[in-house]
Amino acid sequence: MDHFLYRDGQLYAEDVPVPEIAAAVGTPAYIYSTATLLRHYRLFDEALSWGPHLICYAMKAASNQAILKTLADAGAGMDVVSGGEYARAKAAGVPGDRIVFSGIGKTRDEIRTALEGGVRQFNIESEPEMQVISEIAAAMGVVAPVTVRVNPDVDAKTHAKIATGKSENKFGIPIARARGIYAEIARLPGLKAVGIDVHIGSQLTDLDPFALAYRKVAALTETLRADGHDIGRLDLGGGLGIPYTRANDAPPLPVEYGAVVQRELGHLGCEIEIEPGRLIAGNAGILLSRVIYLKEGEGRNFLILDAAMNDLIRPAMYEAYHDIVPVIEPAAGAEQSPFDVVGPVCESGDTFARGRMMPSLRAGDLVAFRSAGAYGSVMASEYNTRALVPEVLVKNDQFAVIRRRPSFEEMINRDSLPEWL
Ligand SMILES: *Cc1c(COP(=O)(O)O)cnc(C)c1O
Repeated sequence: MDHFLYRDGQLYAEDVPVPEIAAAVGTPAYIYSTATLLRHYRLFDEALSWGPHLICYAMKAASNQAILKTLADAGAGMDVVSGGEYARAKAAGVPGDRIVFSGIGKTRDEIRTALEGGVRQFNIESEPEMQVISEIAAAMGVVAPVTVRVNPDVDAKTHAKIATGKSENKFGIPIARARGIYAEIARLPGLKAVGIDVHIGSQLTDLDPFALAYRKVAALTETLRADGHDIGRLDLGGGLGIPYTRANDAPPLPVEYGAVVQRELGHLGCEIEIEPGRLIAGNAGILLSRVIYLKEGEGRNFLILDAAMNDLIRPAMYEAYHDIVPVIEPAAGAEQSPFDVVGPVCESGDTFARGRMMPSLRAGDLVAFRSAGAYGSVMASEYNTRALVPEVLVKNDQFAVIRRRPSFEEMINRDSLPEWL
């Protein structure tokens, strides 16, 4: 459920008519709903309320400071995958002991910064990384809390580009090697194992792969405890999918996911961490755009929008489907016809949808891409020297620009000429 609904014939973001935002901010623009962000956070919080838990929002899904602060103020921790994301979490006021550092390529600088500023745990993804974290921590005279991200070799049955839990993926350490790695951690001076980490992919629409992976983690927990390791924390990653269209069957709810976690892992008495990104931010954001032209082609018609693949790359990169709805509600039973919905960028890949049934629209009309809050704005670029798309946050009847659109002058002035020119 989200808070982008038609009311009196037009689309609202919470209590703000979307055309009002378009008039103030221009298009294209991302619009986020505070109520939806918080609702999704709380659904997870309730789903895990049977035991100690921390929800570490995977900020790579949407990392504007205003979004981070909204969630941090509600009690969320953060899952970060770069030094930049770590800096964002700190800037949003998240204490170090609520920041989990994930990612397969943490640099020495990033590790040092996190140890200085405080970190809940590093999720280790390789043996060389394990050595480097220990070396840096020992040199600083501290002990780094770590988990090992195990790769359970489970098929998440999701898009190949976002599956991470099969043995052929670059992520994690094969679960069969985990015992040896934990023994090594116990010997290293700069490390203390605090738990186990697993993350098998994104946009999972079936709970079975989670259950399979978590069952393996439960068995590993018992084994490692028997070996004398203090496994008090299980980081279960993110990955729960969202409905991208109201037509398809609904993915499992957080409460159903929470029940699987309890069933598979509840008996271990561990603190549960999860790292949801998409489910918190995805349906909390829309991309607002305006129709520039309607173009009649050879046997197909094109709807040319002012949003493009540089603003929302998911359709081009993952063949992702987004509902595209007119901001002015079409009359019930209004006629629809097929359109290829495209952006202005000079690439055939700049196509949001092919043969999509759309009600009649005219140049100047507003449309909204639904479910665009996660992996939307964060992947935007300035390709074709198109200004980085701005972001707006709505709360009840208020809205605020949380990242403004840069001027062309600002964009050009970020370049500098060498002295020979
Ligand atoms: C991307 C990622 C997440 C978030 O995944 P979602 O599908 O957005 O919930 C969580 N943990 C790790 C390690 C990730 O790489």
